[in-house]
Amino acid sequence: MTESVDRRYEALLAAVPGVVCRYLLDGTLTESSALDRDLELVDELSKRWSHFRPDAFGERHTVELTWQHGRRDNDRWLVSRAALERDENGDVLAVVVVTSDVTSLHVAEERVVATSRHDGLTGLPNAAQLAELLETDVDELAATGPTIRMAVLDIDGFAQVNATDGYRRGDEVLKATAQAIAACLREADVAFRLVDDEFAVLFAAGLDAEHAVAVASRMRAAIGDASEAVLGRRLTMSVGLARSEPGLSPAALSERAGLAADSASDLGGDAAVIFDDAARQVSADEQDRAEQLRRAIDEDQLVVAFQPLVDLQSHEVVGAEALVRWQHPTDGLLLPDEFVPLAERMGLVVDLTRAVLDRSLRALAEFHHAHPGVRFSLSVNMSAADLAQPLFIEVVHDALESHDIEPASLCLELTETAVIEDLDLAISTLRQLRDLGVTIAIDDFGTGYASLSVLRELPVDRLKIDQTFVRGLPRPADLAVVRLVVGLARELDLVVTAEGIGTTAQAEQLQQLGCATGQGSLFSAPVFVGDLSELGDVVARRATNVRAE
Ligand code: C2E
Ligand code: MG
Ligand code: MG
Repeated sequence: MTESVDRRYEALLAAVPGVVCRYLLDGTLTESSALDRDLELVDELSKRWSHFRPDAFGERHTVELTWQHGRRDNDRWLVSRAALERDENGDVLAVVVVTSDVTSLHVAEERVVATSRHDGLTGLPNAAQLAELLETDVDELAATGPTIRMAVLDIDGFAQVNATDGYRRGDEVLKATAQAIAACLREADVAFRLVDDEFAVLFAAGLDAEHAVAVASRMRAAIGDASEAVLGRRLTMSVGLARSEPGLSPAALSERAGLAADSASDLGGDAAVIFDDAARQVSADEQDRAEQLRRAIDEDQLVVAFQPLVDLQSHEVVGAEALVRWQHPTDGLLLPDEFVPLAERMGLVVDLTRAVLDRSLRALAEFHHAHPGVRFSLSVNMSAADLAQPLFIEVVHDALESHDIEPASLCLELTETAVIEDLDLAISTLRQLRDLGVTIAIDDFGTGYASLSVLRELPVDRLKIDQTFVRGLPRPADLAVVRLVVGLARELDLVVTAEGIGTTAQAEQLQQLGCATGQGSLFSAPVFVGDLSELGDVVARRATNVRAE
């Protein structure tokens, strides 16, 4: 079996949450991005070659296989998606298979969650097992006095590690972190990996505050050492500690430790916080900011930038995406990442979406008025929290009606991750929205783990390929993955939009692959315009500059 990792796959690995394998038409594996721990998995995958042979594709552009790998307690559930790699003449050269581990993720199929009790990457028990242990421990927990029983640990800035060092290094850091945490514990204490870069520890016997903070310091130092060995720089950690109290439910104990970890992180990270001491302060800060945001929504401090959506064939502007910003009176212009999550946590998200819809649809109505008959598709982003609000359908309906907008010219975007978070809810809400006549797009596609069978269930019209895939073009390996996503979309009869297009070569390649529309810095960043028809001039000006560059 080939263990070599072609250098061009390094970049791909940074973008794709999975193992990439390339097979020749006779089933010979020529390249694989697998780490040592996944070599066995690749062997197993290769045994399933018959599923991916070119003749198994029939008329399809992609094939997908869900399968299980591992022994009893250590099962991993995997989804392998394959696409054909072709030369310029369209002749098939190879088959590229991307395999993602869906074990520890928010997978739709419950049996997957139920069968898995360990985290595939670190080997630690997972959140399911923590819940189980807490449940059986409940009487004992209730009996102990108020001593510290639980820690939640979160690596500071871990997303940045994935972004700058790549997922593979990120994985190594997580594995090293798991070992570092375990090494600081007594035998009867148990460490868990909850999700992403979040770990937990259940202390067998309660610790007093001083002792618990000392253990936390030890763990923080160990993580610094471990990350230094992997990355050459020290990472820090936010630790939350919580006391068990008579009558406190296991779920509440977990929640408290998590909240304390959040507050350690809000304080700038590299700290340990015990629940009680922190909670008041966090909630005071959050409340304060939420109050400001509520006022901002009422007082029109939210503004909307528009990013042009361009037809990749004609290069004409055919629509725009509305992207919210907060013009904060003292902190300046804030980007959505800085306040949308707060709105979600504090129950303000529907108000926020309503405000964005109102401003966007007003602009669209003015555009229609000035340019009757010209088609223009306006996209607005929704949050997962919007879906959960029964009132949300009405909000969309009222906004369309009050601005007298043809529903088909509004596209609502929902991220792939939000869809998977609560699949049933997503399906039912998206259906109702579709019934209103609006179109639906899955945003940031490729970053979550929606499988073909999940996508088939969803009432959607459009897939937006995430920027991470587009940015790597025209490297051949990234190309193969974009082809995979486009193939998947075609299979489901969906229109494909590419995000984050930065060069003319990327735009051309995407168009040839079958992407209808695109957006990105090549055409224009999000801009503030008084009138949507100005977007055409913005793109034209930018095109002249690009030619001159
Ligand atoms: P998104 O919906 O995927 O939006 C695309 C993001 O990519 C925007 O960031 C846009 O400025 C950025 N972008 C587009 N082309 C390029 C490019 O070529 N290069 C680079 N580097 N970036 C590019 P922004 O405006 O910061 O929005 C971030 C996210 O916040 C959005 O991701 C969306 O998920 C969320 N968001 C934005 N507006 C709203 C809103 O009104 N409601 C809700 N719920 N979420 C929103
Ligand atoms: Mg979007
Ligand atoms: Mg996106």
